Amino acid sequence: MGDHPVLTTLKAPAAPAPADASGPAPAAPGADPRVAETVARVIADVRAHGDDAVRRYSREFDSWAPASFRLGPDEIAATVAAVPGTVLDDLRFVQRQVRGFAQAQRDSITDFEVETLPGVVLGQRSLPVSASGAYVPGGRYPLTASAHMTVLTAKVAGVERVAATTPPTGGGPPPVSVAAMHLAGADEIHVLGGVQAVAALALGTETIDPVNLITGPGNAYVAEAKRQLFGEVGIDLFAGPTEVLIVADDTADPFTVAVDLLSQAEHGPDSPAVLVTTSERVGRAVLAHVDELLPGLPTAPVAGPAWRDHGEVHVTADLDAAYALADAYASEHVQILTAEPRAALERMRDYGALFLGEGTCVAYGDKVIGTNHVLPTRGAARYTGGLWVGKFLKTVTYQEVRDPESSAFLGEVCGRASRLENFEGHARSGDLRAARFGGRPLTW
Ligand code: NAD
Repeated sequence: MGDHPVLTTLKAPAAPAPADASGPAPAAPGADPRVAETVARVIADVRAHGDDAVRRYSREFDSWAPASFRLGPDEIAATVAAVPGTVLDDLRFVQRQVRGFAQAQRDSITDFEVETLPGVVLGQRSLPVSASGAYVPGGRYPLTASAHMTVLTAKVAGVERVAATTPPTGGGPPPVSVAAMHLAGADEIHVLGGVQAVAALALGTETIDPVNLITGPGNAYVAEAKRQLFGEVGIDLFAGPTEVLIVADDTADPFTVAVDLLSQAEHGPDSPAVLVTTSERVGRAVLAHVDELLPGLPTAPVAGPAWRDHGEVHVTADLDAAYALADAYASEHVQILTAEPRAALERMRDYGALFLGEGTCVAYGDKVIGTNHVLPTRGAARYTGGLWVGKFLKTVTYQEVRDPESSAFLGEVCGRASRLENFEGHARSGDLRAARFGGRPLTW
């Protein structure tokens, strides 16, 4: 592993690394040609045939083709009414947590003006996009918590129209996800999944208005659809199959490490779960606990293959090497189970979210604690953090020159700078102001 010496690898992934993967991070979206081809075909068809194509693919992939994919107010009310009160209470609790943190993030973003020369005022504002699409996954399980992350955060940012969409579960709308979308303030709720949902929101159809930004996690098809449509529509980030990496030293409890690795492996058979530890004893004990725990886990049919194919346990000489190796993975979730977990804040750079110490866990981040769980995967943490209020805002600038002398001065510099690049039209805009406000003669 290059600069990050691994003393021993106690478990390597069984699945071969994708051909174009560079370094420890798994392949980025677009790497699987079969997925990319299917996605391109669906997008082209939705572009050409709108609702007809959407309905055809929804029937093919999800056996779902209702008269309207959008739920009406009565359907929403009936769906929410069928959700038990205790579940609604829990949804409200979690949404308070998510809203509280998102609001603090919003408050940390301030518009400002600065005067860089006498009377020369430069300003910055953060404006919400006017419409966003919130993809709430649901193929395997209804990922209700994603509704808080995508819908609520957009609303806190001030997005006027939030169109939320989720695949059908068990032949109909997933009640708890619909309730979560509704409580979060979704302006539209569609029961539609996969590429057809992303394409409909990005391109618009006869019945679905297009949005400016699509957010939310999803499987490889959803992530690839966002990648192919990026440019025509904004996207938050590549939030694909979940990953976890745990950094543990000799003080870590191996049973806890094993439970927490499996809690993420159950996301999907392609979900990597990696342990980097300074203790071979801990590493071996974790392997034994995973073997004991897996048969009793109801999601073992998913978590088992994920662990077999994408589980890894590496032993490093010290914590410096462990942090460096963890950074090289740029994992979505990094859990620190060491004697001094907060040290990782200063020592690590490339991760989606850090979970410090035994008191918290990735499942808290996924479900209850209030930080956003839509996080970069497949190495994207090298260049972006996760979803947050700021992703719904456009940082725009403005300028004004209130002082005639300053405008005349800038006009002269603008004339010279523009002529350096042979932009005579630009130069004349500057000359005009130098003449008008500075009394210089116009020579053209
Ligand atoms: P999903 O909603 O992402 O995908 C389901 C849709 O995929 C279906 O509606 C179907 O239309 C489409 N699909 C399935 N097979 C297809 C095929 N062969 N061809 C074309 N389309 C097909 O739900 P999921 O599958 O359960 O995946 C959710 C993913 O989201 C998981 O991988 C999970 O790890 C990930 N996730 C990531 C984050 C993050 O922040 N990175 C957070 C939560 C969940």
